[in-house]
Amino acid sequence: MPHIDVTTPGGTYTVVVERGALTSLASGLPAQCGTVFVVTTEDVWTLHGTAVRSALGHLPFRTIFFAGGEDNKRMADVERMAESMVEFGGDRSSVVVGFGGGIVTDLAGFLAAIFMRGIPVIQVPTTLLAQVDAAVGGKTGTNLVSGKNLIGAFHQPRAVIIDPAVLDTLPEREYRAGLYEIIKTGIIASAGLFHTLATSRDSILARHHHILDQIIAESVRIKAHVVSGDERESGLRRILNFGHTFGHALEAETKYIRFLHGEAVSWGMRAATHLAAECKMIGVEDRISILNLLDRYGPVPSTAGLSAAGIEARMIHDKKTIQGRIHFVLPETIGKAQVRSDVPAHLPRTAIARALEECA
Ligand code: NAD
Repeated sequence: MPHIDVTTPGGTYTVVVERGALTSLASGLPAQCGTVFVVTTEDVWTLHGTAVRSALGHLPFRTIFFAGGEDNKRMADVERMAESMVEFGGDRSSVVVGFGGGIVTDLAGFLAAIFMRGIPVIQVPTTLLAQVDAAVGGKTGTNLVSGKNLIGAFHQPRAVIIDPAVLDTLPEREYRAGLYEIIKTGIIASAGLFHTLATSRDSILARHHHILDQIIAESVRIKAHVVSGDERESGLRRILNFGHTFGHALEAETKYIRFLHGEAVSWGMRAATHLAAECKMIGVEDRISILNLLDRYGPVPSTAGLSAAGIEARMIHDKKTIQGRIHFVLPETIGKAQVRSDVPAHLPRTAIARALEECA
């Protein structure tokens, strides 16, 4: 099974994608490590903690529970966890394991980035979204009241252990939210992956092992390649934000309640595809294929009651908007996207209005 390397200026680490990989978690630890702190949520620990407990049973380890949820992804929780680590003898030789969805891996990564000025983290993502996106690439962080992920650090993990078997217990809606990130990867970087998603939709939605493991590994391979070339998102890595500029605005406009992150990205990819058409960047056939695929993995929650003007205003205030200029990631063909900062000012609102109407 795949062992995929991510190479950054700070070093190279491996992402293992393998059924049963949880049991080999200890192999990712440094030889002389102190206490291992497993940051997790009660639900994930109850469902899958036994495998982690037996993998780490011969070592000093502690679980640190986090309540879960975007509202709790805050500095106050990071501080509380750091205090627990000190209380249980944590020091510079300690290691953090992030065992959960993207909220846990973001928070555990950030805790490791700042605890005693930085200790290693091993990411063990348990949602599809975290496996193919959040846990790979070293972006960590917490929310402020004023916005998501506004505090954070780049802190690459020492290893990422992906065990697709844990996805068997993932609720249907969370599973599909992760699939949208895989669709994103296909659209921006791999016509082959896009084709697999289109032709094997039923098996993928039924979580058939062979095809699921294949698309996870392929997505991780692409993310690893992109991150390896641009750790700090100054160039190529920006294409991974396809659908996110519009999606973040939709999430903010609906107060992070109506849409899961992946669902908002699905809607955002729809809006970005319409914008690419308005800019005459994408052919009719590719545009229809993208919209069809999004529909076939849908539906996303209704956009009823939302205005294009409201979403556009949110986009202008996004943290990725630099000096009022929005960088849009737009598809050119299936498998290729481009970052554009010269989109005529009146076009985004038209694209948003179309996408809102289609999902109302
Ligand atoms: P999440 O972490 O909230 O997990 C979703 C829910 O599923 C939670 O209730 C969780 O406890 C539960 N769960 C997790 N694994 C399970 C399993 N195997 N079986 C049953 N239930 C399980 O949501 P998410 O979508 O994984 O992550 C979203 C977060 O990821 C956001 O905060 C977002 O900002 C972040 N993110 C970060 C990056 C990055 O590059 N760092 C990229 C994308 C998203």
